[in-house]
Amino acid sequence: MAKLLLENIKSLIQVEDHPVSWVAGKEMDALKTIDDAFLFVNDGRIADFGPSGSIKPEYRNAEIIDATGKLVLPSFCDSHTHLVYAGSRELEYVDKIKGLSYEEIAKRGGGILNSALLLHNTSEDELFRQSSERIREIIRMGTGAVEIKSGYGLNTEDELKMLRVIRRLDESFPIPIKATFLGAHAVPAEYKKNRKAYVDLVINEMLPAVAYEDLAEYVDVFCDRGFFTVEDTERILMAAMKIGLRPKIHANELDYSGGIQTGVKYNALSVDHLEYTGDDEIKALLGSETMPTLLPGASFFLGMINPPARKMLDAGLPLALASDFNPGSSPSGNMKMIMSFGCVDLRMTPEEVINAVTINTAYAMGLEEEVGSICKGKRANFFITKEVPNVQFLPYAYGSDLIDTVVLNGEII
Ligand SMILES: [Zn+2]
Repeated sequence: MAKLLLENIKSLIQVEDHPVSWVAGKEMDALKTIDDAFLFVNDGRIADFGPSGSIKPEYRNAEIIDATGKLVLPSFCDSHTHLVYAGSRELEYVDKIKGLSYEEIAKRGGGILNSALLLHNTSEDELFRQSSERIREIIRMGTGAVEIKSGYGLNTEDELKMLRVIRRLDESFPIPIKATFLGAHAVPAEYKKNRKAYVDLVINEMLPAVAYEDLAEYVDVFCDRGFFTVEDTERILMAAMKIGLRPKIHANELDYSGGIQTGVKYNALSVDHLEYTGDDEIKALLGSETMPTLLPGASFFLGMINPPARKMLDAGLPLALASDFNPGSSPSGNMKMIMSFGCVDLRMTPEEVINAVTINTAYAMGLEEEVGSICKGKRANFFITKEVPNVQFLPYAYGSDLIDTVVLNGEII
């Protein structure tokens, strides 16, 4: 594989000499940076980096990029998406503008159930084609690793269809793609009066089928008011963990649902959303291995309350920020925009949001040894910005496309 040397980098951001799994609390406000730096890539991996003065002569026997005036950052890691879906839901967007709430739309048979119907009527090839467009788009916008959930199937056949598409995407694109089985995303209309029977279907039919084809690494449940209870969630998690799936939970988006505590109890890799996080939830998360993951794109798009990010950071918790890219509540995978939402809506600093969209989201999908920082031996997934004054400019110029060059596995994309 080709060698690549980036020289005259204005600032090389998020460098690590000693790799960490995540950063938390006050540490999140610090971002290790080398000004006037070089970065050397060999065989798809980060081989060396440092101040310009320390480039070894042999490094010049490589493709050379002059990054004068530009920053280099590790690729964004997006640890929570639903980007495999059919069609789009802009008509509901208009309903929302007119004042209907997410729950009202769900009650009228819209929302997730609408996406399930569209997905049912879309072939696997067409679903792959539509989803590929979205992967290409997020790669252009700087994402270098992504997690994708099922959950618009809501029956065994269609859940498997989604997971097979996710696997095909992983085989077809140069970024790592993690698959999460989210059969318990919503209760299908035909089970409305018998939610328990649907949970039984998830446990007795879907999970064994997912395991048989080895289609997912993680399991997710929408544990919230109007969706699945703590008891449903525990039943699904216990069954899923028996076949080796680690939990990642949709929790506390609509209420103090107990989802956060349930996630921690079952050693979830992450609990996500967390708009309703109080002292008990913070206490449960402290000292756990569960990454609290906020999805400010969804709060923005739905006009809902924001989670208490500052309070969580002050308590010493880590935070991750992901896009929640999905057709209903966050139809964008633009992680640079998510950084801006983190700064404006969650009152996080640019340094905190950069940690939250790189190393902490890498951890939240089990990829912290592979991506999420500029570290020797990690996969060479990073992007070079256009000429910008400093790193704070990235979230500040919230609508500008500031990505000049994307490098994945050491190859210029
Ligand atoms: Zn979600």
